[in-house]
Amino acid sequence: MKSPFRTKLPGGWPEDAPPRSILYSLPPYGCSGDDREHLGSYIARLSNAHDMARWTLTNRIIGPAAEELFGVSSDRMARDIGRADYSVKVTSATEQAYQWAHTLNRLTLRTNLQLCTLLPLKELVSPFLLLSDRRRFCPSCYRDDVQKERDCYDRLLWSIDAVAACPLHRLKLVNLPKLKRRPMVFGPADEVTSTIKLTESAELLPASDYEVASARLIAELLDDSVVFPDAGYSASAQSAFLTHAVDTLFNGKSARFAAHLRVNKSQVHGWVKGKIQMCLPRLALVAYCCGCAIADILLGNKVMLSLRPAPQCQDRRLIASGGEGAKRPRDELRKELYELMRDGRIRNATEAAKCLAVSSKFLRENFPREQALLVQSGRELVKSGRKEAMDVFDQIYLSEHKALCDAGVYPARRRVIERMRGKVKSLGRRKNAERAQRKAHAETGVIIARGREPERLFLPRRPSCGQTEEKV
Ligand SMILES: [Zn+2]
Repeated sequence: MKSPFRTKLPGGWPEDAPPRSILYSLPPYGCSGDDREHLGSYIARLSNAHDMARWTLTNRIIGPAAEELFGVSSDRMARDIGRADYSVKVTSATEQAYQWAHTLNRLTLRTNLQLCTLLPLKELVSPFLLLSDRRRFCPSCYRDDVQKERDCYDRLLWSIDAVAACPLHRLKLVNLPKLKRRPMVFGPADEVTSTIKLTESAELLPASDYEVASARLIAELLDDSVVFPDAGYSASAQSAFLTHAVDTLFNGKSARFAAHLRVNKSQVHGWVKGKIQMCLPRLALVAYCCGCAIADILLGNKVMLSLRPAPQCQDRRLIASGGEGAKRPRDELRKELYELMRDGRIRNATEAAKCLAVSSKFLRENFPREQALLVQSGRELVKSGRKEAMDVFDQIYLSEHKALCDAGVYPARRRVIERMRGKVKSLGRRKNAERAQRKAHAETGVIIARGREPERLFLPRRPSCGQTEEKV
């Protein structure tokens, strides 16, 4: 294949003319962590600028260039870009993203396209929970783009999993549905219209203070990672910062630090000792609660710290359960537990643990008999609740079934279920519908049609009471 780099100067040009870029040297949008464009979006705009499809541009120019620079197969580059989730691939912190960014740098004679990927964070932050696998956007950012008459572009910040909000507009990011294939788009104009439609239909939900603050902290980290390109993760730096935080804010007690963050004690111990690398969501949490930057934790800076309460909105699976209850005398707890059980204020073991402010494990270990009783009653309650819901479902099914019969229409399951829409909480699973159907048919005597369902309803001829008597 012909090398894209071996292009001759046009006739008559001086030999010492400055090098020309092979592709149009399109500058990426945005200048800071808040609003920098990501590489997937940049590639889409670059293809539009050349009036070529993404895949064609890769197949003809970017692929052969990457083959020459990095020895990667041109076909693989075309495969990278052909996927619906291509922007995740080229924006990540992997070798693939490196090849994309630097090939494009050479082709456009730019030097900064790697900043449109998560490569600057590669050495600093653990890849765990780093990149979001969903495409997300802030409707107000898109609206700004339209107002300022530039292309709507995706920000690098939105591709980070721990970011849930736009720090500029204080709005929750909106998820785009996962697509195996991209919808058919006929040229850039069509893409703009579909983006505007998307923006108009998106709901504007205000983000919580923590979501905004953590997004801002991560945006600052993106900026800081550019300033310190050689900085990498070091267990001793993380350990130095955390020891400083525990000493200045919690009198040297890491357990109190863990309780403040609502994180498991042993996990915090692992961080402080430098045995566990903190993931990005945790870094943002600690920086938020200590009033510092994420870079301070990573570089081990002993900065002035201020205590801020941990947010309530943390992922339920990440926070330590339990609470202050475990510190109270056992007899007092037992008495309260009996009262709760006697008054019927708790229905299962989980509710009991929550009322006593202890963890489920604590309840099981200290009050095994009571816990077993509560588990049993909880199970029975769930069972009876299910039975009740089943009966209600069957009754409504039967009444709709009868209504169709009265109208002379065959009560096919599909028709009955359609009429039940809005009358029941959930249309349930297929097996529930089948059970209700069998019961309804048994009750009304209508025979279940196999295969093609009849248009009209033929009720089975049943001898009336009078006829029977005559025969007898
Ligand atoms: Zn925004």
